[in-house]
Amino acid sequence: MNKAKLLLLLVCAAFAAVVAPPALFLANVWRHDGSAPLTAPAPGTDDAGHMNTRHSARVIPVSSDPAEAERQLSALVRQTAISGGHISISGAHHSMGGHTIYPDGVVLDMLPFNRMSLDAERRILTVGAGARWSEIVPYLDQRGFAVSVMQTNNDFSVGGSISVNCHGWQNDSQPICSTVESFRLLIPTGDIIRCSRTENQELFSLVLGGYGLFGVILQVELRVVANEYYVAEPHFVKPADYNRVYHELTRNRADVGMAYGRINVAPSSFMENAIITLLKRVPGDRPTTQTLTDEKPSLLKRLVFRGGIGSDYGKNLRWWLEKNMGETAGKVLSRNQIMNEPANLYSSRDPASTDILHEYFIPAARLGEFVEKSRPIFLKYHPELLNITVRNVEPDQDTFMRYAREEVFGLVLLFHQPRTPAADEAMAALTRELIDAALACGGRYYLPYRPHATAAQFLQAYPQAPEFFAKKRQYDPNGVFENLFFLNYGQPLLAAAAR
Ligand SMILES: Cc1cc2nc3c(=O)[nH]c(=O)nc-3n(C[C@H](O)[C@H](O)[C@H](O)COP(=O)(O)OP(=O)(O)OC[C@H]3O[C@@H](n4cnc5c(N)ncnc54)[C@H](O)[C@@H]3O)c2cc1C
Repeated sequence: MNKAKLLLLLVCAAFAAVVAPPALFLANVWRHDGSAPLTAPAPGTDDAGHMNTRHSARVIPVSSDPAEAERQLSALVRQTAISGGHISISGAHHSMGGHTIYPDGVVLDMLPFNRMSLDAERRILTVGAGARWSEIVPYLDQRGFAVSVMQTNNDFSVGGSISVNCHGWQNDSQPICSTVESFRLLIPTGDIIRCSRTENQELFSLVLGGYGLFGVILQVELRVVANEYYVAEPHFVKPADYNRVYHELTRNRADVGMAYGRINVAPSSFMENAIITLLKRVPGDRPTTQTLTDEKPSLLKRLVFRGGIGSDYGKNLRWWLEKNMGETAGKVLSRNQIMNEPANLYSSRDPASTDILHEYFIPAARLGEFVEKSRPIFLKYHPELLNITVRNVEPDQDTFMRYAREEVFGLVLLFHQPRTPAADEAMAALTRELIDAALACGGRYYLPYRPHATAAQFLQAYPQAPEFFAKKRQYDPNGVFENLFFLNYGQPLLAAAAR
């Protein structure tokens, strides 16, 4: 064998030795992965947490015709106020704590209520509250516009998004409330009113982030922005330096369009490193309409992500790939392409288990302290932690139950757990310790997820809650609009206040 052949053989053998183990590993993940996303639960039966056992009795699909829907809902609300029943409201039911369910009550399925129109000059989208981002993003993309603030996935409805006051990768932004110009609200008397910063201002601030407790949001006027192009630029930091480096990279930087971070969950250096990814604006004259393509979602990305479950090798592999290859492999992508990703690309396909989210809002300067405090908690409980994403949120100027009272970093944690009471209890214990860690750093937790916080933790995180629920009682004395979030946290507070 000549030298050239020998060299070629050695190179091939070395290549196979490097590539074969991850390829075999991912093939095995693929073999065990379900072939299709799980069917979403029907409204009022469960939500994205897949852990609720209490159901609504009757689902009312709301008409897609606005005039008909208003007649239908006004009559229903008036009747319910008289009969003493309860109505819960469901968008895409991606909350996880029964926020869309009132046991044995009526649930409104808002999804058909999804019509929209755009005033391009004023950059205002008028949209039915049942419309999902997966409908809105393509609509705006046809017209050269994009959503200003939304979550990282496109599955959610406008009504559900503004009722939790969501936020995403839009750096240096307030939550979505800041992009709401006004909305029409069906109130517990059956009347319809307009709420904005100048009309019915108190209800405006209570309904945004108000978890469906003050009425049904109908049409919403949302400010939108121009569609544009970004390319990802990663920066590697220690969590202790995250706040300083993040601000150096993003403050007053017109070239940064969006930004997010990830904290390492791989056992090789658990929570010791982080990546800040800037999505930097790409100037040029590329077309900003019709930027969405029919490109199939990447199976490889899913396998790398799901491969972390139950496998230290899988978690280390994912971190290595993210660090060395980035998540978008240097591609130039439009804002709409980035925001149009469905959550089920990565979600569990195993009916016996579920993926659970937590989010902690930590004052920006104390992020490193929270990481220090939470690390030993993870090491104590050993949960199946798949991801920690970080995004900054500017102080919220609009909502009553605000979680961003100062600039905060939102740390989004994704866990995988069996759908059993024992696993739920273990998750509850872990959650309470993490909430204590967040509270000790002057932070708080996000409310759309599992109702594991104690009443005392809820009050410490949201000291405005007693007044919030007193106002709920004032605007809705018959308790027409209620759900499990209200039953878990609001009703006990009102009962205590009445004693
Ligand atoms: C995979 C996943 C990823 C997520 N990512 C993010 C993220 O990046 N950022 C973030 O901030 N959050 C995130 N969330 C949380 C998500 O934003 C909320 O759960 C949001 O409520 C989902 O919208 P929805 O349409 O499913 O709302 P639902 O779950 O249907 O409803 C949520 C609340 O809004 C009320 N509501 C719904 N529609 C109306 C209406 N028309 N009028 C009055 N009240 C109404 C409901 O009664 C309920 O209390 C994520 C959740 C999941 C499951």
